Amino acid sequence: MPTCSDCANYTPKGNDSGECRMAGPVPADRDAARCPVRLFVPRPAR
Ligand code: SF4
Repeated sequence: MPTCSDCANYTPKGNDSGECRMAGPVPADRDAARCPVRLFVPRPAR
């Protein structure tokens, strides 16, 4: 199951949390299916 840390809108700010371009601070392990703004975009492979 993908999480915020797998989303293109997510920027890591620590081990367990980060900043979402749309939703602000978010936990890294939030289930993407529970995205509050419903804008999960899979991050391109790096
Ligand atoms: S858009 Fe949704 S799934 Fe993506 S980082 Fe923000 S809160 Fe998480």
